[in-house]
Amino acid sequence: GDVIIEATDLVKHYPIKGGVLRTTKGHVRALDGVSLKLYKGETLGIVGESGCGKSTLGRMLMRLEEPTSGTLTFDGVDVYSQSGPEMRRLRRDIQMVFQDPYTSLNPRMTVGDIVGEPFDIHPDALTRGTSKRKRVQELLELVGMNPEHIGRYPHQFSGGQRQRIGIARGIALNPKVLVCDEPVSALDVSVQAQVVNLMEKLQDELGLAYVFIAHDLSVVRHISDRVAVMYLGKIVEVGDEQQIYERPTHPYTQALLSAVPVPDPTKRDTRRQIVLSGDVPSPANPPSGCRFHTRCWKAKDVCSVDDPPLIDHPDGVSEHPSACHFAEPVRVV
Ligand code: SF4
Ligand code: MG
Repeated sequence: GDVIIEATDLVKHYPIKGGVLRTTKGHVRALDGVSLKLYKGETLGIVGESGCGKSTLGRMLMRLEEPTSGTLTFDGVDVYSQSGPEMRRLRRDIQMVFQDPYTSLNPRMTVGDIVGEPFDIHPDALTRGTSKRKRVQELLELVGMNPEHIGRYPHQFSGGQRQRIGIARGIALNPKVLVCDEPVSALDVSVQAQVVNLMEKLQDELGLAYVFIAHDLSVVRHISDRVAVMYLGKIVEVGDEQQIYERPTHPYTQALLSAVPVPDPTKRDTRRQIVLSGDVPSPANPPSGCRFHTRCWKAKDVCSVDDPPLIDHPDGVSEHPSACHFAEPVRVV
């Protein structure tokens, strides 16, 4: 397929200030050299524990933050060198859906104002002859909401309905990419499936590409074509859905998968339980060598010295990138 987004060696370090003089005491290495591609119309899942940099990555793709270094292209255009009207134009094509539908919608605005707001910034996105009200009602129908409810306020809706409103707003300008930061994490499991199904329907109808950020591998499996697993500011493994879930080669991915509950209780005995020891180290002071070595059950001496590059390793059927000196497939689920 065609590449729509390409990030190359993205780095984002935040200074830590301290003391009375607020001098820089070091840096949080939120992103430490992330390269990835997003193809037109696909869903790329991005998974990792909190503090791994996945939300920072989402914000960098949206250019809500400037990088410390690295490049980003959107449809071949160098994003970080754009300004003014060109940047405005780019912003139409990449939109975001936020995690918490309870706090991300302004409680004082009606649904019509919330979903219609993007047209105040980009009036040219309305087809000639279509009123904003008419278009908002179409969008509400598209996400399975009653278009008559255009005058209601966010508190009059359930969490799932609010996330539908957030999605309607996200697709209002007909973007090519939707960056979704934990879009269903705040919702009940039964409602999660409905919202994910809606997102898949919209993807088929509108040809959208999704970057779907989550802390849980089970949430992204159903919707993702490919998955990138992040740990402490880096991608440690990336592959298509089957490679990541059936033939993971990185010990961190294997550990995350072994923590995923398996619905069929008879399968439980055959599962390998891998328990991660300790917490995620601070991104201000990541471990030397492989950043995962302080928690990895496979670690050897070389691991605390040499940082393994993200390169292709055989996974038993094909090969896919994994950042481990001892990458080998282990079927966990
Ligand atoms: Fe574990 Fe070493 Fe592989 Fe890192 S490089 S994941 S510490 S085995
Ligand atoms: Mg899909």
